[in-house]
Amino acid sequence: MKKTKYPLSWSKKDFSIKIFCSIPNIATGILVRAGNANFVIDPGDGILRDLNKELSVDQIKSISDVFVTHGHHDHVGGVWSLLTYLRVMNKKTPLTIYYPKGCIEIEHIHNAFVKVYQDSLPYTIKLKQIDGSSIVATKKVRIKPFEVIHKEILNDGKGKRQVPALGYNFSYNKMKICYGGDTAYCETLVRSAKGADLAIIEAGHGEEESDDMHMSFKEAKSIGETAKEYFLVHVPE
Ligand SMILES: [Zn+2]
Repeated sequence: MKKTKYPLSWSKKDFSIKIFCSIPNIATGILVRAGNANFVIDPGDGILRDLNKELSVDQIKSISDVFVTHGHHDHVGGVWSLLTYLRVMNKKTPLTIYYPKGCIEIEHIHNAFVKVYQDSLPYTIKLKQIDGSSIVATKKVRIKPFEVIHKEILNDGKGKRQVPALGYNFSYNKMKICYGGDTAYCETLVRSAKGADLAIIEAGHGEEESDDMHMSFKEAKSIGETAKEYFLVHVPE
């Protein structure tokens, strides 16, 4: 399978996105910039290294909002180190983490972190559970989550269960970026990607058949092509 070359970058005026990495079971890491605002989506392993290549320490400390699509390790593996780095660098302003309702991974990471560093945490961490009916407005950006279909395999190796999972639309100055997160083919993503300036669509099954966890190239492309531009990501290597 052809390897995607990361990072993938896109920008229009002062609205941009950089996908540092998006490899299933390994790591994801995405930075969105709108004017002076910097947001992180899915801080997987390696996020600190990548943010430090891209931004100054002060810019990293100014990050106000983190958006998590779901709790799988390739999307949240860098949360602990990001929180710790901001503590060590003496961040003073609050950090809000938005995550899908019922995503216990984020809650457990957060609770453990606050417990360990309760006496030496210079900034406030706000956890905000959201779902498909939420709307977030921050720093002149409107973020509209949408529910997607993503599953995980149970311990017996056969059974599956749906995990709380979201995609996000970021709208800024009449421009829109749609990021689907990890998902099977679903109507919410089809609607969200349509007409977007950029759609970022996972093709977690590549050339293979799709299922209720990930999409094939064919499905992902059919959605991507309804946007003005698109990236296919999360392709197995
Ligand atoms: Zn993933």
